[in-house]
Amino acid sequence: MFTGIFIVAIILLIVALVCLAIALFRLWLRDLQIQRDRDLERREKFRPDGKPYPPADRGICDCCSQLNEKVYYIQSGQRLCPDCYHNMLEDQKNLPR
Ligand SMILES: [Zn+2]
Repeated sequence: MFTGIFIVAIILLIVALVCLAIALFRLWLRDLQIQRDRDLERREKFRPDGKPYPPADRGICDCCSQLNEKVYYIQSGQRLCPDCYHNMLEDQKNLPR
C-alpha cells in the first residue's frame, strides 16, 4: 500500500514537472515572438545605420514610376520606393567626401 502511494506521488511529480516544462517552453516561445516582433517593427522604422526612415505612404515612385505600397517622402520632395530609397542611400554612401 505504501509503495502504491509512492508510485502515485512520483507519477504526479513527473506530470507536474512536464506541465512546468511545457509552460516554461511556451513562455520562452512567447518572449521569442515578442522579441521578433520588436525587431521587425524596429527594422521597419529605422534604417540599418540607426536613423529613422522618412514618412511613408502608398504611392508612385518618382524614380522607377512603379506603384508601391510604401513610398518614402524624403526631404527634397521626392517620393521613392524602398528599393530606390536604398539605392539612393548607397549612392550617397559611395560619394567621395
Ligand atoms: Zn522606385
